[in-house]
Amino acid sequence: MGLSKDDIAKNFADIEERVDASAKKTGRSRSDITIVAVSKTVGAETVGQAVEAGIRDFGENYVQEYLKKREVLPDTVRWHIIGPLQSNKVKYILNGICLLHSLDRLALAQEIEKQCEKNGTEISALVQLNIGKEPTKSGIFEEDLAHFLRDVSVMRRIRLKGLMAIPPAALKADDNRPYFERMRILFDRYKRDYPDFQYLSMGMSGDFEAAIEEGSNVVRIGTAVFGARSN
Ligand SMILES: *Cc1c(COP(=O)(O)O)cnc(C)c1O
Repeated sequence: MGLSKDDIAKNFADIEERVDASAKKTGRSRSDITIVAVSKTVGAETVGQAVEAGIRDFGENYVQEYLKKREVLPDTVRWHIIGPLQSNKVKYILNGICLLHSLDRLALAQEIEKQCEKNGTEISALVQLNIGKEPTKSGIFEEDLAHFLRDVSVMRRIRLKGLMAIPPAALKADDNRPYFERMRILFDRYKRDYPDFQYLSMGMSGDFEAAIEEGSNVVRIGTAVFGARSN
């Protein structure tokens, strides 16, 4: 069973308060941070309740699931694709998403470029880094980032908007601060060369406060909005 509109509104208000407090530690506030409610595995009806509670940004991991929800939810929703994207699914996300957080390989960028060319569209994307160099995670290694950005920046249909990372699973929220800090240093460095850079996407339910304090301006929060996922 999904949560009610009131439950979701309360969860989100709590999150907003914590986001605001963390942002203030770095001279920012709630309005400087985009909160993406991660709605993977959450039913369309419950996402509809979240929309009614005033949430606008939703993150989905699976294209199929995203398409189903998109069909029944209002056009005002801003959809983010945050999970690994297979090249053969690119054609389904060309028109409806506001940001792809998981651009993680050149073959994917090439497919996006090709499909966008064909459809006369563009896509805004974040480059996903594998900041902890974990074999089980996708993403670019930081030493390959300069080269990757150069390769993608010549593609005319991809707007490079910044960076994203999922640091290693941590026991305590603070454990990932060094990774978050490293990401912010990379973000600031490449922002000089890529003026469209504006989003640093890091921080989830367990560690978004630390992420914001280290410079994140997009957090992706599932469990704290919708409750624990059953699968
Ligand atoms: C599931 C997921 C999240 C949200 O995780 P929670 O711990 O539930 O907040 C954030 N980012 C990505 C890429 C995810 O897959």
